[in-house]
Amino acid sequence: MLSMYLDTITPPDLTWQEQALCAQTGAEFFFPEPGSSVREAKRICGLCPIRSACLEFALAHDERFGVWGGLSEKERQALRRTAP
Ligand code: SF4
Repeated sequence: MLSMYLDTITPPDLTWQEQALCAQTGAEFFFPEPGSSVREAKRICGLCPIRSACLEFALAHDERFGVWGGLSEKERQALRRTAP
């Protein structure tokens, strides 16, 4: 969920984040209450032009919470375990 970063920092190498769809929708979809659905966040990520870059960013920065690049916390953990 990149809109948090857009509000606080915009380093030159992160200008791709300006295309983040989540910045237009609000954080509640991407950081739902425990046990709540992430379906809507994933739907928005599926339409986002920077989904791959977002997921790479989340994995590189070990983002533990929320939906990033269309993957939930558990899905990112599973991806890390299977990555070479
Ligand atoms: S892929 Fe999802 S979390 Fe990442 S910038 Fe796009 S809408 Fe936001």
